[in-house]
Amino acid sequence: MNLPTNPFVSNDGKKPTCMEMLQLILDGQDSQEQREYFKNHMDNCMPCFKGYHVDMTIKELLKSKCCGGEAPDELVAKIKSQIASTIS
Ligand SMILES: [Zn+2]
Repeated sequence: MNLPTNPFVSNDGKKPTCMEMLQLILDGQDSQEQREYFKNHMDNCMPCFKGYHVDMTIKELLKSKCCGGEAPDELVAKIKSQIASTIS
């Protein structure tokens, strides 16, 4: 069985960690291809699944609590570090 090509692998062949992939997705810097790959990966990877959904939940929460405004950078950074420690 051939594994699908990982679109996250950089040109020098370095394989990214789950955290690096997750960060890219959450920052919205991913390509369509990467997003598809990550969705598949997430189904089999609990830390990624958790990290992704925790972040999405927080974003929804912030949206509803802050009347659609931007959350303070400080708060976002704090939440992100908490997620990082949860999934690492
Ligand atoms: Zn993963």
